[in-house]
Amino acid sequence: MLTFLLLSLLSVSFYILLKKILRKNFLKVKGDYEAVRKEYDILLAESTSLKEENSDLRNILDGTTALYDITKDICKSLDIDTVFDNFRSRINKYIALDDCKFIKGDLDSLLYADYTILPLKINRGIVGYLVAHGIRPQDQDKYHILAQQFILGIKRAILYQRVQELAITDGLTGVFTRRHYLGRLEEELSYAKKFNQHFSFLMIDIDHFKRYNDTYGHLVGDAILREISRVIKDNLRQIDLIGRYGGEEFSIILTQTDKGGAKFVAERIRQAVENKLIKVYDEDLKATVSIGVAVFPDDAKEMQDLIEKSDEALYKAKESGRNRICFWNEKNI
Ligand code: GH3
Ligand code: MG
Ligand code: MG
Repeated sequence: MLTFLLLSLLSVSFYILLKKILRKNFLKVKGDYEAVRKEYDILLAESTSLKEENSDLRNILDGTTALYDITKDICKSLDIDTVFDNFRSRINKYIALDDCKFIKGDLDSLLYADYTILPLKINRGIVGYLVAHGIRPQDQDKYHILAQQFILGIKRAILYQRVQELAITDGLTGVFTRRHYLGRLEEELSYAKKFNQHFSFLMIDIDHFKRYNDTYGHLVGDAILREISRVIKDNLRQIDLIGRYGGEEFSIILTQTDKGGAKFVAERIRQAVENKLIKVYDEDLKATVSIGVAVFPDDAKEMQDLIEKSDEALYKAKESGRNRICFWNEKNI
């Protein structure tokens, strides 16, 4: 019996000891597990934020590459259409768009009601619009940054074009300078030779212009010069060329025009000037012009010869009374 009691006591003590050991181990394992779990959670959070940072970095990198890519291409050209073509083809690589256009001048706002519209301003005036459709919300920022680069590129091209135009335009009358005009004459001559075409060459001189200067002063003389150049331009086609050949002398190339056509246009110009009332202070002044014409290839085949023969014809027109047209190869007017 005593042995039994001793054995029972021993078993109970052993059981209690075992339980204690097991419980202690269990708690330790549980603690370890929780610590590991905590670390795992921390790692998971860090990895998620790293992924986000990576994607931000990739976006920035993409944006920077796109910016570099587009800016590089835009800077290559000073031609407005090429600048836009480069922008359009490049932006497709980085941003999915349904449509993107550059509209010069006015915008039909109804037609582009659901487009993103960026106006292009130069000297406070709007000269065009960049319109785009289908930009995803996540691409908006990138699009606007790239579009600003495009707008800078277009501004550069437009300003360059204006400087170019100013360099070849006579400041007072708005027609070509003599130097540029003669360059165009050379081009027209080789074109007409190559394609066997006619063109007419006109020299126009304002009659008794000195009198206007002497009577009303040079400023009025300038205003008359400007008015007459406008009247002449209004009576030409887009493809004709006009230059200020000398002080009050203009020269015109009537492209693809033979003698018959030149007679018609020259007479129209002469009449338009004669009928024009030029307002100076309280007076309505009138002026007339004399015109000399030489025709390629009938009268002359080379530049110098054309100029000399049209000059001779002009002289004839002056000699025979002014306010008239003379052709080099016509004896009688
Ligand atoms: P004609 O009928 O023989 O051509 O007589 P004209 O008086 O027009 O001819 P002339 O060559 O004697 O005089 C041309 C004048 O044009 C002389 C010059 O003072 C004037 N002139 C030339 N360029 C300008 C200009 O830019 N502004 C002004 N106001 N006058 C100019
Ligand atoms: Mg004159
Ligand atoms: Mg003259």
